[in-house]
Amino acid sequence: MSDLKLHNTLSKSKEGFVALDPAHVRIYVCGPTVYDRAHIGNARPVIVFDVLVRLLRRLYPRVTYVRNITDVDDKINAKAKASGRPIAEITAETTKLFHEDMALLGALPPDIEPRATAHIAQMIAMIQSLIEQGHAYEAEGHVLFHVASMADYGKLSGRSRDEMIAGARVEVAPYKKDAADFVLWKPSTDDLPGWDSPWGRGRPGWHIECSAMSREYLGESFDIHGGGQDLIFPHHENEIAQSECCNHAPFARFWLHNGFLKVGGEKMSKSIGNILSVHQLLGEAPGEAIRFAVLSAHYRQPLDWTDEGLKAAKSALDRLYRALETAPKARAAANVPETVLAALMDDLNTPLAISHLHEVASALNKASDQSEKDRLAGELLAAGALMGLLQNDPKGWLQGAGNEGVSEIEALIEQRIAAKKAKDFALADRIRDDLKAKGILLEDGPGGTSWRKL
Ligand code: AMP
Ligand code: ZN
Repeated sequence: MSDLKLHNTLSKSKEGFVALDPAHVRIYVCGPTVYDRAHIGNARPVIVFDVLVRLLRRLYPRVTYVRNITDVDDKINAKAKASGRPIAEITAETTKLFHEDMALLGALPPDIEPRATAHIAQMIAMIQSLIEQGHAYEAEGHVLFHVASMADYGKLSGRSRDEMIAGARVEVAPYKKDAADFVLWKPSTDDLPGWDSPWGRGRPGWHIECSAMSREYLGESFDIHGGGQDLIFPHHENEIAQSECCNHAPFARFWLHNGFLKVGGEKMSKSIGNILSVHQLLGEAPGEAIRFAVLSAHYRQPLDWTDEGLKAAKSALDRLYRALETAPKARAAANVPETVLAALMDDLNTPLAISHLHEVASALNKASDQSEKDRLAGELLAAGALMGLLQNDPKGWLQGAGNEGVSEIEALIEQRIAAKKAKDFALADRIRDDLKAKGILLEDGPGGTSWRKL
């Protein structure tokens, strides 16, 4: 057992983390619904769970991190209808943009990123099993999970039955046996995406994909399931119901939920319309500063997003890079400073870990002996790597290369397109090569030019 402690929504307390199989830790995080660019609230779970996975990788020999892509959803259907574009085009493009944005925030890709539409057969098999076992029923082309069939339904959110019905915010359809029952499968009209099933042509409800895909890649029982707090009910409650009733095995052992990112005290959300896209913010600040600002608050606490907060994050990073600049030959140490590690092991206390980064930087600034400076810089680099921070070249960062915002990159891509049109291939190649030297790779494809960090 490691000394890692995590707050478990299931027990509402901080528990010592015990891996089900210490040789292989398994974690599942609910990923984006791909119909629009990610906002900074959507990026919060990506960054938080990226730090957790980095920490787990340090503690255990093997970690499998699964984060899904929800590419079948009524919001996607609505967007396709409104824009006249094919669904597959919208989901593929949004997924690609999501990958670009998250990479610029320093988030490592998950080991497996399953798409819902590639796992319909697994969902149908699970729904069939739930019907056979008396936990679900068919009604007018729908299949519904019968909540009353599960004795401990509600154990994650701890809501009363009435609160659950109100919280689910779905109309009480006449074919439901009980108002709390939720949809596993629903019929599709010809203009909507649909798959053949024992209940006719249709599409899955929202929750079943995560039960089916986590079982496929992590097994019936696994260690950690994560997502934002808004997913506790109904999404995660219903995932537990589906998986435990189908598999007769405990589902995820630990449930972790990040708090909301807010603007002016209100949750950032597309429906409220107060969103700041990651793409937009990347035009204003380096991805690392955005990441730092997100990690400045404890993941379970609400985080109020402000311009000042982002500026403060950038100057805090400047200070840390200035300290690193005084030891340019330093390489990351094998060990992370005990203080930083202890803070992260205590339910991922990133604000405390950051304050310890500053302490190491202060000691580094004060040290007069170069070998002592190198040692402290090595510690700072190792701690930074664990948090996905401080891996830029300090000199380049302080000269502003870390500021290479998306808008500048895109302006250069536009210049290159114009150069090609004017048959100035030398200029076009030079722009591509200059960007490559800065770690930005351009890729020309049928849909135009895209770019990614090398
Ligand atoms: P969605 O694409 O809406 O399904 O959300 C993807 C992830 O972002 C989920 O884990 C949500 O809980 C999370 N999320 C959405 N809005 C916020 C927010 N304002 N603050 C923190 N997490 C959020
Ligand atoms: Zn999910």
